[in-house]
Amino acid sequence: MLNIHLVPCLSDNYAYLVHEPTTNLVAVVDPSEAAPVNAALEKHRLKLTHILNTHHHFDHTGGNLDLKEKHKARVVGPRADRDRIPGIDEDVGEGDIWALGPAKAKIFDIPAHTKGHIAFWFEADKAVFTGDTMFAMGCGRLFEGTPAQMWSSLSKLAALPPDTRVFCGHEYTLSNGKFAVTLEPTNAALKKRMVEVESLRTAGRATIPSTIGLERETNPFLRPTSPELRKSLGMEDADVVDVFAETRRRKDVFK
Ligand code: ZN
Ligand code: FE
Repeated sequence: MLNIHLVPCLSDNYAYLVHEPTTNLVAVVDPSEAAPVNAALEKHRLKLTHILNTHHHFDHTGGNLDLKEKHKARVVGPRADRDRIPGIDEDVGEGDIWALGPAKAKIFDIPAHTKGHIAFWFEADKAVFTGDTMFAMGCGRLFEGTPAQMWSSLSKLAALPPDTRVFCGHEYTLSNGKFAVTLEPTNAALKKRMVEVESLRTAGRATIPSTIGLERETNPFLRPTSPELRKSLGMEDADVVDVFAETRRRKDVFK
């Protein structure tokens, strides 16, 4: 089984060390910067072999070149954005299987936040790395895609088994949850989760990983069929994508 270590970077980013213990292969997912990744490698006495990027944004790839040079690590990223991934050696896309030794990851294309954005799903380890597409109780902004594209991307992730752990790119959970509550004030799973999230954040702890099952119950961006959410938006009879789009628009201006 993989060992996954969370590495806080910048102000609210998470990179992850993914260690395959039988081969000692070690990948880092979305290294914003090299220094905290190097510190985590030392702390866990690991040697970096791979760099995995979900998308090209600097807060997910800023450490690529320094880490690649220092560790001679191989950089893997989205085929659709190959030209924008610093130091890329290997591109992957929808349906590909990428392997860290015996640990196999299925690749999903999940565009809309950026033109090229991928998820790595380690099925046997029940873990998916979702970058800035799915957050805990949230989703990424639509910088380079449409609401229909983002809905399709999120739907691929939501279809994974409910016990799949969700490792996302940022600690946005508390503010995402505050927005979610405005749309589904009587959602019991959401209320329960907010109590847990508030106590974790008060203690300075991460709210990650989430699970796909918990996201389905509490993430408003996965819930455009929820009667309460539709009522809050005044969109009882609207199309699912239109409800999703309005939810995203409201979050864009939520304070
Ligand atoms: Zn991003
Ligand atoms: Fe980001």
